[in-house]
Amino acid sequence: MTTCTVSPLLAQNVGTGCGENAYKCYQCKRCTSGCPVAQYTDMHPAMIMRAVQLGQLDMVFDDRFIWLCTGCETCTTRCPQGIDIAAIMDELKIIARRDGRIPANTPSAAMLKLNYDSFVRWGRMWEVELIALDLLKRPKSVTSWLSLGPKMMLKGKINPTLKRGDTLAMKRMVQTSESITAAKMQRQADAAKTAADAGGES
Ligand code: SF4
Ligand code: SF4
Repeated sequence: MTTCTVSPLLAQNVGTGCGENAYKCYQCKRCTSGCPVAQYTDMHPAMIMRAVQLGQLDMVFDDRFIWLCTGCETCTTRCPQGIDIAAIMDELKIIARRDGRIPANTPSAAMLKLNYDSFVRWGRMWEVELIALDLLKRPKSVTSWLSLGPKMMLKGKINPTLKRGDTLAMKRMVQTSESITAAKMQRQADAAKTAADAGGES
């Protein structure tokens, strides 16, 4: 018989990070039935919620589901418990990146980082740089880009020339988000310490 060690730590960290209570989920699976990604992956939103409730880090972070989540919020809209599941997915991405738990087969995770760096550098996303950096990291992606690039260019999704955005405003946003993340991490560390202290006393 397979057994697993149950831990409240992941649900606590998610709760401290984004304010959502994963324990409210009662596995109705309405989130999963509307999720556009679920049919392509081993895990699905309801499974992720259950794994969070049980503190199964490997189930959540060894799978690529959270990195394929598009943030469309269909799950959030459908949840009868009012859980913002999309926010939980985002929080799990933050935890995975912070703890170095991004699986190898997730180019979408690397692409999100390239997007972020591009916004920080130029005040907006510069697609040409993004594609060049992706090609350097993943030379095999050349086939996809050769097929996608011209279509995106025809639809005006790729601008070959750099148009800077408001880099100062972007720097302020980054500083604000970094201070929010630092405060979250402190709250999570405090919560973990309180839980450890309570465990030691019992
Ligand atoms: S819709 Fe809400 S309650 Fe139902 S399985 Fe998904 S998260 Fe849980
Ligand atoms: S936000 Fe993510 S998990 Fe929710 S329905 Fe959209 S793709 Fe699926």
